[in-house]
This record gives sequence, C-alpha cells and structure tokens, in this order.
Amino acid sequence: MSYEPSTIESESTPVVVSPSPGSQQGPHFDSKEKKATSSQTDVSITDRRESFDEIVEKCEFELDENLHPEALMSQKVMMLLAVLLPFIGVIIGAVATWQTGFMGWPYLAMILVGWIVTSLGITIGFHRLMSHKAFETYRWVRAVWMCIGAMSVEGAPLVWCAVHRRHHSCSDREGDPHSPHLHEGGYWNMVKGLCYAQIGWLFAGYWSEPNVQKYIPDLMKDKLLVKLSQWYGIFVLLSFVIPTAIGYMIEGFQGAMLGLLWGGFVRIFLAHHVTWSINSVCHVFGSRDYKSNDHSTNNPICGVLAMGEGWHNNHHAFPSSARHGLKWWQFDLSWLVISAMKKCGLAWNVKLPSDRALESKRVR
Ligand SMILES: [Zn+2]
Ligand SMILES: [Zn+2]
Repeated sequence: MSYEPSTIESESTPVVVSPSPGSQQGPHFDSKEKKATSSQTDVSITDRRESFDEIVEKCEFELDENLHPEALMSQKVMMLLAVLLPFIGVIIGAVATWQTGFMGWPYLAMILVGWIVTSLGITIGFHRLMSHKAFETYRWVRAVWMCIGAMSVEGAPLVWCAVHRRHHSCSDREGDPHSPHLHEGGYWNMVKGLCYAQIGWLFAGYWSEPNVQKYIPDLMKDKLLVKLSQWYGIFVLLSFVIPTAIGYMIEGFQGAMLGLLWGGFVRIFLAHHVTWSINSVCHVFGSRDYKSNDHSTNNPICGVLAMGEGWHNNHHAFPSSARHGLKWWQFDLSWLVISAMKKCGLAWNVKLPSDRALESKRVR
C-alpha cells in the first residue's frame, strides 16, 4: 500500500516552528513563542512533530489480516441502537408533528443549535484539529472541542480519528473502512456501495480492531485526550440530559420529553446522516477540482450542511488544510470558526495549501 503525501507541506516554503519543552503532551507554546508563530501569515507549516502525512504514511498495516475486521456481537448491538434509536425518534417526531402541529421554536432551536455546535466539534475538533493537525491550539481548547464533538454520538473521539486516518491511508481502495466503491460495477452495486458507506460499514470491526492505535500515536501521548475518549459514555449521556433539562425548564415534564425527542434523538439523527453522507455521497456525486488518489468529490449541498466538510475533493487533495472550501463561494463554516479562533489567539500554525500546491493538483 502506498500513500502519496499531500503537497501541502512539500510544495510550499516550510516554516519550522520549534515546539516548546513538553510539547509531546500537546501544544504547550509559551506566550512569546506563540506570539511569534501566530504572527505568521497562513502558510504551510512543518514543525518537529510528525505531520499528518508522516503519521499516516508510517501506518502500513497488515492488510491481509485487517481488510475486513469483524465486530463483536455486543458492538453490533450497540451500533444498531445508535443507528436505530435516533431514526425511531424522527418517526415519533414526524407523527407528533402531524398530530399536534409545529413543536415550537425552542425545540427547533435545540435541533439547529445542538446540531451545528456538536457537528463543529466533529469537523473542527475530531477532524481538522486532531485527525489532520491542520492547526495548533491550546491543550484545553482541544479538549473542549473533543467534548463537544463527543456529544454528536459518532464514536469515541480517538477511535473516530484512527478510523478516519485509516480512510485517508487507503481511500477508495481495499482496507478503506467506508468506501462506496468496493463493490462490483453496475447500478445495483452502486446503490449497495452507497448504503454500505452510509451505514453498513458501522457494523464492521473498524471501531474495535486492535491496531487502531497505530493511527493515532501522537494523540495517544496526550493523557487528557485518552482519558476524555474513555469517558465517551458520559458525553453521550450529557447529549441527552442537556436538551431534556432545558425542555424541563421551559415547560416541565412535557418540555423534558420534547427536549429529549427533538434536541436529543432528532438532532443526533441529523448529525449522523450528514456526517455519514460525506463517506457516501461525497465519494460519488459532485465535481473533482483537484487530483487525489480516490473518487472524492466536492458536493455543494454537503458542503453547506456538513459545516464545510462536503468540499471533500479539496480535502482529499490537501488533507492537512484547515480550510476545505478553497474558493470564496465554497461556504465552509468550520473554516470561518477556525479563522475567528485565529483572530482571537486561540489557533495558530493554521495550514493552507500554497498557490503552487493548488496549481500542481488542479484538474484541467
Ligand atoms: Zn473521504
Ligand atoms: Zn479527513
């Protein structure tokens, strides 16, 4: 298996940033050092820590043994509940709306705010920050994003990152956890592939395979991240308790039930399927603006709905870029938040592809 590193570092002028002592445990920049690095314009950065590309490149795994890892029955049951319960919540919500009318603005706000905030936890925290190291931040900021993302109920944070790095290491090839392209040709197989990439892959053993830690050696060094990832169950619980409690404060028991339904189950259903559509839709439908070793596409609908993640061809071409919507009209909410974090001094070493890198991969 080979992995072609992105040109994001190699084709631009790298700026070497010296990590401070103790940086093995996270980005402990002292104020002077941080000021110096954050004053840089957005350029590709190569620091002494391993880059995303280097880590993934090292993760050659025994494909023959791990092509199709099998999940334990208990894990399959847990996954079934995680997929089915939010879906049942949507059915109940639809019937309730049909019977009694609009659920009320507070509950609509719970869906939208809860969905956007927890999804940003995935896109900024799990994905761009932890999986791809697209920017640096304080350790506590990383932990906060991690906790918020965990409330999307998309898996324990570090395992999510490991599975995602595996996706990049063999995207749309044998070993990819959720490619829609690993079935035979033909229309029916394409539908099967899309269903597998959306939901089917969740029931395979990618979440539990023993060598999953191979993909996250850098993240495993941070004991805080490891601990928070182990506490995933608590964040799942909070994900339901918070909207229930808010609903209770609005209109007692009935409000609690409505909060649980709309702010809990329906919001999680929305977050799940928008995220998973990146695995399915954005590897099949859309345009390809840049060369990448897979079938990733830019899909405007997913681009908007998935907080910028639907510009997925851009992302596969430049995996370390903090910005996925590379054109001015490609709306990328996650990038807007990262830019705001940078302005506030909460993000630095923000990686973007150089003009040369963009030009070298542009599809003509
Ligand atoms: Zn992908
Ligand atoms: Zn990625």
